[in-house]
Formats: sequence, structure tokens, C-alpha cells
Amino acid sequence: MHDTVFANQIFSVLKSKFTKDTIGKAISVKVKLSPLSHVTKESLFNAYRELVKESGFEHIRLDIEPLDLKLRCHNCKNDSTVSKVVFKCPHCGSQEIELDFDKEFFVESIDVNS
Ligand SMILES: [Zn+2]
Repeated sequence: MHDTVFANQIFSVLKSKFTKDTIGKAISVKVKLSPLSHVTKESLFNAYRELVKESGFEHIRLDIEPLDLKLRCHNCKNDSTVSKVVFKCPHCGSQEIELDFDKEFFVESIDVNS
């Protein structure tokens, strides 16, 4: 299951940054999830919650944001950035488009406010 794989990635990033002395610090981790992924925000959130249970990291907030997709239009040659799956070029309405599938998920940043 990919949701568990992604949750594990988040967890290993956290483990590489923090020891268990994170109590009392407001930490949030921001991740980007592609709208093309089969993993939903909810399933990733649940997998993460399950994984960090009793780890000392359970108070770390997880923000899941949609990953911007790159869209190339073969008709008008414009490149666009979209945050959801589209089937038409936003410039000319052509369906001769290609969506960039490179990335499905990544950890963008970790914020610490102590
Ligand atoms: Zn176009």
C-alpha cells in the first residue's frame, strides 16, 4: 500500500531530524501529494497517525497539500501549472495535453516553533 510507504517516508524524515525530545515544540511537517496519486489525503493521514502512535511524534502536525502538476499543451505549446487533474488546456481548450507524472509525493518542509 502506497499510503504506508509515504507515511514511512515522512516518519523517517522526522526521525532523521528529531530525537524524542519534541514534546513542547510545535512542529508541523508539510508534504505534497499528487492529485494523480491513488493515495488520498485521508488514507495518508490515517496511515501517518497509525505509524506515529506512541512514537513520541504523535503531536507533530501533518499538512498535506496537493502537488502542482505541470501541463504541456501540444496545440498552443503553453505550459501551465494546475493543482488538480484536468483534461483540457486552460489556454486554448485543446485536449492534446500531457500531464507531468514525475512525482507523486514528497516531504516539502518541516517547521519548528519552540
Ligand atoms: Zn493549449
